[in-house]
Amino acid sequence: MSTLPLESTVRGSKAQLAKLPSVDRILSWPGVSPLLERHGRTFVTREVRALLNDIRETALRGEPTANLTDAPIAAALSARIDSRLRSPLRPVFNLTGTVLHTNLGRALLPDEAVVAVAQAMRAPMNLEFDLAGGERGDRDALVEKLVCELTGCEAATIVNNNASAVLLTVAALAARREVIVSRGELVEIGGSFRMPDLMKSAGAKMIEIGTTNRTHARDYISAITPRTALVMKVHASNYVLKGFTAAVDEAQLADIAHRAGLPLAVDLGSGSLLDLAAYGLPHEPMPQETLAHGVDIVTFSGDKLLGGPQAGLIIGKREWIGKIKKHPLKRALRVSKLILAALESTLALYRHPEMLTARVPTLRLLTRPAVEINSLAGRVLPTLADAVGRAFVVTHGEVKSQIGSGSLPADVLPSAGLFVHCRKAGKGTGRKLNALAAALRTLPVPVIGRIAEDALILDLRTLEDEAGFVAQLPLLTAIPIAP
Ligand SMILES: *Cc1c(COP(=O)(O)O)cnc(C)c1O
Repeated sequence: MSTLPLESTVRGSKAQLAKLPSVDRILSWPGVSPLLERHGRTFVTREVRALLNDIRETALRGEPTANLTDAPIAAALSARIDSRLRSPLRPVFNLTGTVLHTNLGRALLPDEAVVAVAQAMRAPMNLEFDLAGGERGDRDALVEKLVCELTGCEAATIVNNNASAVLLTVAALAARREVIVSRGELVEIGGSFRMPDLMKSAGAKMIEIGTTNRTHARDYISAITPRTALVMKVHASNYVLKGFTAAVDEAQLADIAHRAGLPLAVDLGSGSLLDLAAYGLPHEPMPQETLAHGVDIVTFSGDKLLGGPQAGLIIGKREWIGKIKKHPLKRALRVSKLILAALESTLALYRHPEMLTARVPTLRLLTRPAVEINSLAGRVLPTLADAVGRAFVVTHGEVKSQIGSGSLPADVLPSAGLFVHCRKAGKGTGRKLNALAAALRTLPVPVIGRIAEDALILDLRTLEDEAGFVAQLPLLTAIPIAP
């Protein structure tokens, strides 16, 4: 395995260096010719030189010698080339229990979207071309109608992600003017998205009102001045305010803004187009509801609960969306044809709500029944127990998954997982579990779990490729784990 590079078996002593074959000789070995055919002479020659250099340096440091005969050198060359050519971007098994894991790529796309993206890559398409009129078109038009059909909006535009959506909205509607936002909603998301910083980057002055826990209608009303351009509400997606709290609801706030002739924008973050409560999940705000409350502009992510590609959707009233689209930043933040193809085909699935939990992987994983996950855990357990060896004990039991990406922080989904404990509890437990977690990450498809409660926990809610997972587990035994 990768912890023990083959090069280490061909270390030579200083005395043996003289016998080291030349670059040309190695290139002429029959065993090397398939490498030459596959990768070309330029690349293989460079790798042979680098390998010989490594061997020389190791030997000159006086490190242990092994045989420097042809076969081990050829094998080392082949292994070296394999590892050099492996893409740094790797598929992994996300068994962290977080369905929308930002660091692991968030939503997995529906098959329909994968097909649409492949097609958009291979053939020219009417990205900005109006087929009826034969003239230049607008790329937003490819999805706008569908978004309006699904949410009831008048107009929509798509940008790189939801952070861009908020940035563009504020820049287009409130640059050099004031935006009113409650102190209870000055969110930070994933460290690099902070509402106050974003407002500043957009060139707007943020007017904070109310207190951390309570903001009232009168706070908004008294903050409105001739310099105000926008009233903003941000969904508390990754935290909850509990206890003595007060906030102004969307309908009331829309009324306050409209009386002053101002637009109200709501940043929903996740924004589910499907009512999750119908599936026994906690209700997440829906863009269509927010619009129905009279909100003028709603922004949300494409790769959170929507289950599509990374994108930011800005939807709402024609007047404001039109202004937003005209801002120069829109050109800088626009999405590619691949994203539009993926988004369009994902959104199209929402026309058939009954099929959504089967076809949209995010919704499928979120609604997966705990009993099904539990029997999966039972089936996989013996292979994992064999693979981890005698130093560990594997059990299965209940765990709680979470949606992730800031959705519904207070709620967790009943799930099932595998718990790997150290056979002998006590000192060194943490170190052994870390070594095991590291070993699982060296598998051909790295397995990512989490360590908690003195165990390595693999939450199986998100395991769909059972066969692939089980098939690679025996490779784990090749990795030395100190008992
Ligand atoms: C996730 C989130 C964002 C950022 O969205 P990205 O698509 O990750 O850029 C912004 N606001 C809220 C409330 C969010 O939950």
